[in-house]
Amino acid sequence: MKSGKSGDLFSFFGPLGFSNVPWTAYMPSRNTRDNTIWSRMGRGGIRFDQSKVYKVDTLDISLETNDKVIGIDEIHMFDPNQAEIIGKLLAQGKDVVAAGLDMDYRGVVYDIITRLIMIGPDEIIIHQAVCDVCKQWNAHFTQILHNGIPVLEGLPSIIPDDKTHEYDYQSRCREHFVRK
Ligand SMILES: [Zn+2]
Repeated sequence: MKSGKSGDLFSFFGPLGFSNVPWTAYMPSRNTRDNTIWSRMGRGGIRFDQSKVYKVDTLDISLETNDKVIGIDEIHMFDPNQAEIIGKLLAQGKDVVAAGLDMDYRGVVYDIITRLIMIGPDEIIIHQAVCDVCKQWNAHFTQILHNGIPVLEGLPSIIPDDKTHEYDYQSRCREHFVRK
């Protein structure tokens, strides 16, 4: 969405690119739209160096590297059991920075997010987006619409934004988010 959440990954990993700290970023294979992590920040957006970004189904491979820092984009698209891998990475002394959505189109928190909170993150940054209805910068929710009408149930909680369907995504504030 237009909240700048991937932008946080850039502000964190940008300076690392000039350091000798080994790092790698991962994104879910389920994201069929993008081939690297990118952000709408700046004119035309900015992108991660594609050679540093791996598209994966699981994060197991990150346990075998010498990386000191692990970046993960679209964390909500990973299976909930991947939170366990992140716990192991932390136990290895690695830093993990993950970005993603906290709630699905019904306003229900993703299981993996709940599990990550149970690991006890050092910091959680919640971004607000601009509500597509009132244009106030106070949107916490993602509304999925079909022909302009909110879809309130019956969809998987992760729907790839890859243009193979006719759903529209909107950011909505508390007042304008429609729940079942
Ligand atoms: Zn609104």
